[in-house]
Amino acid sequence: MKYSSTRNETEPVDLATALRQGLAPDGGLYVPEALPAFGPHDLNAVTGLPATAKRLLAPFFAGSPLEDDLAEICAEALELPLPIVDFEPGRSWMLELFHGPTAAFKDFAARFLAACMGRLRSPADPVQTVIVATSGDTGGAVAAAFHRRPGFRVVILYPQGRVSARQAHQLGAFGDNIHTFKVEGNFDDCQRLAKQALNDRELNERLQLTSANSISIGRLLPQISYYANASLQLWRELSRPVDVIVPTGNLGNALACILAREMGLPIGEVVLATNANRTLPDYFSGEDYRGRPGLATLANAMDVGDPSNFERLAWFFRDRDLRTADIHSHSIDDEAIRETIRRVDAEQRMALCPHTACAVEVLRQRRAAGITTPHLIAATAHPAKFDEVVEPLLGRSITPPPALAELLGRPSHAEPLSAEFGDLRQAMGNVSGNG
Ligand SMILES: *Cc1c(COP(=O)(O)O)cnc(C)c1O
Repeated sequence: MKYSSTRNETEPVDLATALRQGLAPDGGLYVPEALPAFGPHDLNAVTGLPATAKRLLAPFFAGSPLEDDLAEICAEALELPLPIVDFEPGRSWMLELFHGPTAAFKDFAARFLAACMGRLRSPADPVQTVIVATSGDTGGAVAAAFHRRPGFRVVILYPQGRVSARQAHQLGAFGDNIHTFKVEGNFDDCQRLAKQALNDRELNERLQLTSANSISIGRLLPQISYYANASLQLWRELSRPVDVIVPTGNLGNALACILAREMGLPIGEVVLATNANRTLPDYFSGEDYRGRPGLATLANAMDVGDPSNFERLAWFFRDRDLRTADIHSHSIDDEAIRETIRRVDAEQRMALCPHTACAVEVLRQRRAAGITTPHLIAATAHPAKFDEVVEPLLGRSITPPPALAELLGRPSHAEPLSAEFGDLRQAMGNVSGNG
């Protein structure tokens, strides 16, 4: 399988190059030259996430130096608890993606990418620098996945004051080969800085920069597998496809769900639940695509005004009309997020993180509109990560899962940084030492 840039299909590269580079040299995003096709019966005998991932992802790894390691990569990275929990009995379910080391779905993809990159490296290679802009959860997941991994250092850029206190603590709690910067700006600024760094020849040569953002194809691919796994599990029970609602910011997780469907898995409509950042809902309601500055909301990991994976989504649908592709998008404001968190806890004693609450509110609206199909909701983070939002609404405290509690018990440090690229350039001079 070859991969080309969304902006130029004439110079395809292999998977290893796409993984190492993150972003294509022309600024585009890497896309596979073809999507393999599967029917539900092709995966009949396969159970468990690592085995499902190995089957589904094998065509993407064909011809790559990682091909023979794929089973091992899937076992190392994806063996995490993945419960499907009843939400409306018999009609809707939560796919709990938050049982990894940093309590958000991004652990699956970050661990997979790290497992791939670790195997692509030879011992004599210079130390590589993974640069990652985060709206809160990516940075922690990438840091956890690369922490103390030989041959790698990580530079995290997060928007100061726009992540929860626990997220901020977590981001600065790793130390060792993890360098954390709090940027005076929003997530879009962090993302711009990371892109500028990746496009800077001199920095690249000196620090061997690579990306771990959701723009990396190595993060997109593994996410396909949990939608495949869950939709197959439900298909065996229901004999019909399930509609999936995905809390959406940068469009990485939801794109993986759309690709799972395009590959033939039993998924019906894919519904992108956003917070007050309306770029996608406006587009899917018929407006031209218009990226804009990110607005701060309670669901901060989705505070994205110009989702970078939109370019990839548009590429996959370049010969079709995206707006008639069974993809929908709805925006949920902060007041509705609060109300949903309160209501769901009162009705069924279930605490939701603010992102998952957006998806749950979209489900409520769809039910109110008369849609009765079975639904799967991607539950993207553990509510304890967003205790400042959730606990006052519930009037009770939520116990952090053990891995999160452990990180919160460590000291934490982040360097302040302006949103000017020149300052980042200078600051990166100091991380080049021991790694
Ligand atoms: C990152 C994140 C999202 C948004 O995912 P995208 O892939 O950027 O669309 C949603 N919820 C949580 C908890 C997240 O951390």
